[in-house]
Amino acid sequence: MNVKVIKRLCEAHATPGCEDEVRDIIASELGEYEQSIDKLGNLIVRKGEGKKKLMLASHMDEIGLMVKHIDKQGFIRFTTLGGFFDQTLLNQRVIIHTKKGRVYGVIGSKPPHLMKEEERKKVVEYKDMFIDIGAGKKEDVEKAGVRIGDYITFDRDFEELINGFITGKAFDDRLGCYVLIEVLKKATPKVELYGVATVQEEVGLKGARTSAFKIYPDYAIAIDVTTTGDYPGVREEESNVKLGKGPTISIVDAKGRGLISHPKVRELLIETAEELNIPYQLEVGEGGTTDATAIHLTKEGVPSGVVSIPTRYIHSPVEVAKLEDIENTIKLLVGVVEKLE
Ligand code: ZN
Repeated sequence: MNVKVIKRLCEAHATPGCEDEVRDIIASELGEYEQSIDKLGNLIVRKGEGKKKLMLASHMDEIGLMVKHIDKQGFIRFTTLGGFFDQTLLNQRVIIHTKKGRVYGVIGSKPPHLMKEEERKKVVEYKDMFIDIGAGKKEDVEKAGVRIGDYITFDRDFEELINGFITGKAFDDRLGCYVLIEVLKKATPKVELYGVATVQEEVGLKGARTSAFKIYPDYAIAIDVTTTGDYPGVREEESNVKLGKGPTISIVDAKGRGLISHPKVRELLIETAEELNIPYQLEVGEGGTTDATAIHLTKEGVPSGVVSIPTRYIHSPVEVAKLEDIENTIKLLVGVVEKLE
């Protein structure tokens, strides 16, 4: 387990459509294998020979913001790229990625001293928020290099907690990217293995669609993170996934409107986990979906499945995961890659 690489991946900034920083890290980690970058920016790494093609996909992009408007006083209004719970945005420090370089700012809010009783109970929508970079007027913002359309990300470092827990931003899906790197390095495939680091997953599974079209694999597995129900505020019947209990193997996601895992791929994952004594959790998801949803509808169809790393507080800047789950996800996928002929 190379925690330094996980840290570098999570501290890199890559909003949908601007995945270069993450792609560079993955490309250099996997420098010894055949690589190509397709027209949308997906990184495709190939290893091994065989009659069948297996595609593993992890997305490089994280949810982010974008400069939408700069007002006369120099406050910046923004839009969201990907699914946010607006409350997680308040009082965050952010980085605006301009042509001239990074500009730091904060998402300000009214202090409790000035709030009326009813105001304190209200959810603030992102449309009513703004970024303060210390400007006094619109011209100051422009002089700093900020333009309409600049990408914005959370300014948040990766840290280790106790008991092998870790926290940071963009675990969704840099943990998947890390797993992808390790599986490519460790596995000796009997198939033609494609590791794809995809673009623009958070805004509509776009990179998965074009890369799957190019490769047209016989099987595909998306590697992502998934929500858990092991902390206050989530009932066990809402999510029975827990940290430290191993990767999840998806049966369906988004109530079947996303992916219904192909029985062959799902059974291969379960069999491998049992043979190798790797803990795993079965998941019936009602909410989000993954790259596998786009991949499995390629051409005549691609039998697909999903393996996920349990993660708390997904789509916030303080996601939490456990190192042993990442380790077990790598073991499971190495096992699957080596079993498939
Ligand atoms: Zn994801």
